[in-house]
Amino acid sequence: MNSSETVPDAAVPRFVCGRPRIQFGQNAAQQWCTILNGEVQPGQVGRCSKKKFFFRRHCGKHLALMTPEGVHKSESALRCQLCDSPGEQSERNLTASEYEKIAARVIEATAPECGVVTQARVVEGFNGGTDFTIQLPTGAQVDVEVDGEQHFEKAYHDTSPQQQRALDLRKDSMSLEQRRRRVRLHYKDMPWWTGKIKGAIALARFYPNLAYNLYTPSYGVIDRFDPPFAP
Ligand SMILES: [Zn+2]
Repeated sequence: MNSSETVPDAAVPRFVCGRPRIQFGQNAAQQWCTILNGEVQPGQVGRCSKKKFFFRRHCGKHLALMTPEGVHKSESALRCQLCDSPGEQSERNLTASEYEKIAARVIEATAPECGVVTQARVVEGFNGGTDFTIQLPTGAQVDVEVDGEQHFEKAYHDTSPQQQRALDLRKDSMSLEQRRRRVRLHYKDMPWWTGKIKGAIALARFYPNLAYNLYTPSYGVIDRFDPPFAP
């Protein structure tokens, strides 16, 4: 018996697509996150479904929120950029991915009961993922962005820091309009990260209808709430 032989189908749930049955890929079915996807079983979901579901990334620790098609598209779709990425150590400053790794640890330590989804495209109409989405046991979500130097000081690909800031603020506004909860963590503010995340989760838990944008102090921007919040 060769261990590289394909596993017999029977044990593996499949994604089906209307007419002919389309095998969705064992990997994806095995990575299906039963707890967060609730009643739905992978076998009931069409491969072309536009709906996003929770999948466990290859590290087994972090999650992806994707359409079945997105997972199917590439072998590396469920790769965890936090856990697998080779240590791209820069000269002096931490790289964006290193800030993200630290933030992920802060989130995990602060909210061990929550799931952490990475790079989900949760803001409708905005082309690009959010660094983290914290998935509370209540079903509520809190989006977290971690901004390293490149958001403020250095050019980032072809985007100037000014353009990047404008883009970030636009994303925050869209997020608030869509009644999402969002926290921005500035790289200079690490001592505040834990407190901000705790506060954001507490608000999501006790005020489930409150949308917000929260910022750590170095942004110099005040927190925004919708509806306006008077504790
Ligand atoms: Zn991971």
